[in-house]
This record gives sequence, structure tokens and C-alpha cells, in this order.
Amino acid sequence: MESRSEIRRVEKGKKRGMVLAGDRVIPAFPSIGRIYHLEAGLRDYAPRFYIEEKLDGFNARYFLHKGKIYGLTRGGFICPFLTDRTDLIDPRFFKDYPDWILCGEIVGGSNPYLSESHLDIEDVGFFVFAIVNEKGRFLTPEKRYRLLEKYSMHTVRNFGRFTGNAIEKVKAIIHELHRDKREGVVIKDARGLRRSRKYVTPFSDLNDLRHISSLLGETAPGYFTERIQRLLAHCWEFDDPSHLDHLGESFRPALDAFGQVARGEKVSERYTMNVHSRETAETFKAFLSHSHQVEIQPVSLEQRNGFWRFVFDRRFPKATGRLRRMLGGKLFYD
Ligand code: ATP
Repeated sequence: MESRSEIRRVEKGKKRGMVLAGDRVIPAFPSIGRIYHLEAGLRDYAPRFYIEEKLDGFNARYFLHKGKIYGLTRGGFICPFLTDRTDLIDPRFFKDYPDWILCGEIVGGSNPYLSESHLDIEDVGFFVFAIVNEKGRFLTPEKRYRLLEKYSMHTVRNFGRFTGNAIEKVKAIIHELHRDKREGVVIKDARGLRRSRKYVTPFSDLNDLRHISSLLGETAPGYFTERIQRLLAHCWEFDDPSHLDHLGESFRPALDAFGQVARGEKVSERYTMNVHSRETAETFKAFLSHSHQVEIQPVSLEQRNGFWRFVFDRRFPKATGRLRRMLGGKLFYD
């Protein structure tokens, strides 16, 4: 039997994202609880914890099955892009640990899921932030840090080990990350007993709003209020209401979307991906349309720097339709 056909994803329910590869279970990557107030959220969390940078990309898992390395999306799909780009991981890892799973964030300008990146990486990088062993358990942060020293792979930045009374140091990290236009932190129990927690910078909230504002009608209204609440909680705790002054600006890109639609175009975003073969670009196109019902319009496919560089536009039919109806004077009942 071809090894690929033995891999199945759990589509629904709590275990969504879990994958069965033959008899083996590849667990879903768990949701990380968010804290809105750093000091209160860290109080009584753990005697010692690590703070890692939360990178803004997309979640990927790599595993080995019958001698081949596969890349999974968060939802548990075998992704043609990730499976093409196994050069992002050190092959020695799976020689040493064939039953383990590498979890990390894909970031950079040339990936097919994110239209923009704030890291200065033209291609892409896979930054490991978790390792699952053959029993399906996460290695503790220290074990992971030590193990990854032996391999040539990117890892997320580690700000070090802290104790409960380190709030001022943690706040300083958030200031630094905000200033550097980074997303935030993930806080991890050194013992690996309690679940991780996440906290994002005001930059991240404003950036999400800026990005999503042009996709009116594609996103649940809760997406907006959620980011506004996070921003308010941050302003309160850090005693800095100045971030609220940028709220208005973050909605400005929406006006570009009005312009696009007024000119008869569709609301769209441009993506670029680097892969090793022309065939992957084709497979990926079919994968996105079938698995995620996404409409994509190829722009170019050419060889560059040893890769096939595929550029495409992703179209947003709901946003386009809504703006068309708005600009066309249609009636809405709310
Ligand atoms: P949820 O945590 O509920 O799944 P989500 O899918 O919207 O939420 P985020 O809010 O972005 O995701 O936060 C969790 C994600 O952050 C992880 O799934 C992972 O992809 C990403 N991440 C980035 N850096 C790290 C890190 N250092 N440790 C753990 N996860 C990280």
C-alpha cells in the first residue's frame, strides 16, 4: 500500500487536527490559552517558567512515515508545500528519533498561507517550538532546548527562565517585542505540567485589525471586538492609552478594498511560495481549492534561486460580494 494513503486526519470534534498514520497517532497541536492581564495571568502559574517569542506565521508539524517526511497543517492536512520543503528541517533528527514529531512555526515572505511577514526572511523558515515523543508527550522546554542544540534547525527565541515575581522583566520583554513589531510571547511551565499561556503585543492587535479590515464580510464580527478588548486590557495594565490613538489608522486599508471593488476588481491578496518542483505548485493549487474552498488565481510560476516561485492571488468572494452590494446601494437589514 502506498504510505500516503495510510495517513488520515480527524476532521471534527475535540481531536480535529489529529492524524492517524497507520497505527500511529500524530496528536493535534493543542490550543494555547490567552491571558489578558500579564501580572494576574502569571501569578501562581508555575514556580519556574520559560518565555519564548510567539512567532507570527502558521503552525506546522513534521513527522516520518515509512521513510518519508510529511508536513501537516494545524487542521491535519498533509500540505504539499510543507512536504516539498523538508529542507527546512535537519534530516538527522528523524534518523535519531523516527517516532517523534517536530512542531513549529513557518514564517517568511515566501509561504502560501500568509500574505505578509514582519520577519526579514525572503524565503521561509521553520522555527521549532515543540517536540512530541513516541508516547505522544511534549518534551519539557529544557529537554527540547538541549536536544535542538545538536541539530541544525531554527528554533523560536527563548528569553530565559523566570520565576513568579518576574513581572517587570516580562513587561520589558513585551515592550521590546512591541517596538520590534513582533507578535508576543508564549509562557511555558519549566516542569511541563501546566499548559502554556500566550500574550500578544499591542502591535499584534493593531496589525491584525489592519490586515483584516479589508476583508469585511469574511471574518466574524467577534474578530474585531476581541482585538479591541486585548488592546484595552494592555493599555490598562501598562498604563499607556496611547495605543488607542492608532485604532483609526488600522482600518484605513479597508478603503483600498472599497477602491478595488469600485474599479470592478475582486478583493484579493497576493501570496508567494517557493517550492522545489513545478508539480508541487500545481498540487498545491488543487489542495487549496479542494481542502479549503479557496479561490486562487495564478499570477506567475518561474524558476528563481533554485526554486520554483509560484505567485498567486487569493480571492475573497464574501468580502467582494458585500462591498459590491454596499457600493451598489443595496438594502441591508441589521
Ligand atoms: P489557539 O491557540 O487557540 O489554537 P490560534 O490557532 O488562533 O489559537 P494563535 O492565537 O496564533 O493561534 O496562538 C497559538 C499558535 O502560536 C500556535 O498554534 C503556534 O502555531 C504559534 N506559536 C508561535 N510561536 C510559538 C511558541 N514559541 N510556542 C508555541 N506556539 C507558538
